[in-house]
Amino acid sequence: MKCLSNIQSVMKFLEAARLTGTVAFVPTMGVFHEGHLSLMQKAKAECDVVIVSLFVNPLQFGPKEDFNIYPRELSEDRKKAAAAGVDLLWTPSEKELFPQGFQTRIEVSTLSQKWEGISRPSHFQGVATIVAKFLHIVQPSRLYLGQKDYQQTCVIARMMADLHFKTKLCILPTVREKDGLAMSSRNKRLSAAERDSAPMLYRALQAAEQAVQAGERNSGTILRAAASVLKTERRMTIDYLALCDETDLNPLEQLVDQAMLLAAVKIGSLRLIDNLRLNARFR
Ligand code: AMP
Repeated sequence: MKCLSNIQSVMKFLEAARLTGTVAFVPTMGVFHEGHLSLMQKAKAECDVVIVSLFVNPLQFGPKEDFNIYPRELSEDRKKAAAAGVDLLWTPSEKELFPQGFQTRIEVSTLSQKWEGISRPSHFQGVATIVAKFLHIVQPSRLYLGQKDYQQTCVIARMMADLHFKTKLCILPTVREKDGLAMSSRNKRLSAAERDSAPMLYRALQAAEQAVQAGERNSGTILRAAASVLKTERRMTIDYLALCDETDLNPLEQLVDQAMLLAAVKIGSLRLIDNLRLNARFR
């Protein structure tokens, strides 16, 4: 596996790679877990050359968020990416990505303001800006993202359509711990007691799914099934719990076909997010 930082050398590597086959791109912030590795492995199975970016993007952190304490484990990440079949690990520098005078931003307006956007006002602007920059540099055939960050996939899909990127977007399922907790680099910061409580988030989503399987279609009732599980866990407070349209993320009153159940909770100093696609057809 090659490791490069400099943008020019990455472009040169990819120019040569494109002559021999398809290029897959997996953007990450590092501290690789099975969720990240599943994206890399699928990318390798579907494309000839896999490039993974590892960059903790300051633009997507709010002023009071955890940019400075976000975990970083480069040497471990190198080994894991190589074992997953990655061809190029790209560790761009902040200085080269955001040189003095940098002032361009990509704003996906309406989608970015909902749900996560209420607690994290400039988060998706930071995400859309860095992903647009990366897509310009890498020009991949396929971009791999995780469903774990569902709203992020919607924002990026909209941005790619609006800016006419030809890259195909591939969204892969959330990888979970055995107890159901969605894997996340931030889980390392949960205390032992918080870690014990954390799987309750997924259990709440499953309670909503069970209500749907039992025939419930009213959004308020489905959401109450999830909320009643979360309320049994005193360490958690609900940030939002919403049943939404899969594309525009507007809240729905009734589940007709399929919809996304989105959830965010606070636990200690951390926020956990998760989601589940609910399907009215499997009854
Ligand atoms: P991050 O390093 O957290 O920015 O995540 C990089 C990519 O990995 C994003 O597309 C995430 O949605 C995806 N990802 C993070 N956690 C998981 C997970 N548990 N399962 C699947 N994909 C994930």
